Amino acid sequence: MSTTAVSFSDTTQETPEVPPVSATFTAHDRCDTGDCGAQAYTRWTLETGHDLIFCFHHGNLAEPALMTKGFSMTLDERHKLVVNKLQGSEN
Ligand SMILES: [Zn+2]
Repeated sequence: MSTTAVSFSDTTQETPEVPPVSATFTAHDRCDTGDCGAQAYTRWTLETGHDLIFCFHHGNLAEPALMTKGFSMTLDERHKLVVNKLQGSEN
């Protein structure tokens, strides 16, 4: 066996994945439901490009209505909220 046979796949752990900013929610993204103001975790988009963002609670509530109106979920980060709750940092 030669020691020159180094696999480049060994370096993948040193490169953190950085998703595009537009593909994730930040603390500045807030639920579009008027007086809610919670952090958004789901994004719903119409074919026209119009989109709405909702928190975990309102995203679940609105899902049936949104789907009948032609919206499709284009971003779902509800799993992050579950992680946040486990870490005790819920808003
Ligand atoms: Zn909400």
